[in-house]
Amino acid sequence: MTFPNDNMTREMLVVEAHIWNHTFNYINSMSLKRAIQLGIPDIIHSHGRAMTLSNLVDALSINNNAKSLDYIFRLMRILIHGGFFNQTRVNDKEEGYLLTLVSCLLLKDEPLSQVPFVQMELDKKFIDPCHSLSKWIKSDDDSSIPFEIAHGKPLFEYDERQPNINRQFIEIMANDSLLVISVMIKNYREVFEGLKLLVDVGGGTGIVAKVIADALLEKNCIVFDLPHVIEGCEGSCHVGGDMFKFIPSTDAILLRQWVLHDRSDEECIKILKKCKEAIPNKEKGGKVIIIDMVLMDRNLEKGDDKSYETQLLCDMFMMAHVSRKERNKQDLAKLFSRAGFRDYNIIPMLGLRSIIEVFP
Ligand code: SAH
Repeated sequence: MTFPNDNMTREMLVVEAHIWNHTFNYINSMSLKRAIQLGIPDIIHSHGRAMTLSNLVDALSINNNAKSLDYIFRLMRILIHGGFFNQTRVNDKEEGYLLTLVSCLLLKDEPLSQVPFVQMELDKKFIDPCHSLSKWIKSDDDSSIPFEIAHGKPLFEYDERQPNINRQFIEIMANDSLLVISVMIKNYREVFEGLKLLVDVGGGTGIVAKVIADALLEKNCIVFDLPHVIEGCEGSCHVGGDMFKFIPSTDAILLRQWVLHDRSDEECIKILKKCKEAIPNKEKGGKVIIIDMVLMDRNLEKGDDKSYETQLLCDMFMMAHVSRKERNKQDLAKLFSRAGFRDYNIIPMLGLRSIIEVFP
């Protein structure tokens, strides 16, 4: 397509702005990272009321000079635009910063805090592989992964000084799961109705299973994870094992997010088959409850555009770090049918995730 001169309308300036917006989008991520590093949400929270720029700069561990005032003013301005903070008038001359619902999730000690997640995902080691995508696509080796091209090792072998990186991941995922499961218990309680025993497969350290058992009083929730993960976990409801080999018998299985999405189709089918062996048929109430992303179909679904875009970003993230993908409804239906399940039901929650009930 070429642009004759009479197409050089003012609209082209909007087009240019759109390109610039995409070009500089990483600055949004970096501004968020910087605000967290500086502890800005916690500082405003402890202040207890709207906080002026000079109060904020005073409270930060940076020099209080004209340069800092200008930097923090501009950092806060872009973050206000991003919905992270609000501003309100505190006196005749000054405005003060307030938290929003978004920055409340960025308080470090908040149980549902997203801070560890943001810090991990915006670490340089996760950004570098994005520069290796073109090298990766040219490679003849189908098993290569951009992360490995960038760092010489796959993700979980990356940092020998941090043998606990897996544990760190599990804890970060657990924070996110806690948020999603809390919303689910409050708004989609019927999914758990009639079930007496649940096994949370790949359930990590068990924080989420405890929330479920506490909230849904009569439910017994067993955490099933690799033996070294459950080692040292408190409570008697932990069972160690390998989900590819055997899953304890139960009414229903919970496969929370982060269990299937970084697995190949073949691996997912193996896990789902083991799930099927562990539960009774649909008539007796057997089901697998998956909480995961279901990539929206933009042509068919009128979802919220921001969530759709975020799902696409997550999909590209999966490509760069583990060479996997986020699945859409059709991809999932194929997996369920190949694993021998007869039926499924997708309940989209607001935001990124859905509840998927899969029936044998
Ligand atoms: N479901 C949790 C944690 C997801 S991380 C959440 O949503 O927060 C994936 C989990 O699967 C980890 O806890 C990991 O230890 C566990 N896992 C990985 N391979 C496994 C296997 N073969 N058998 C059982 N659990 C496994």
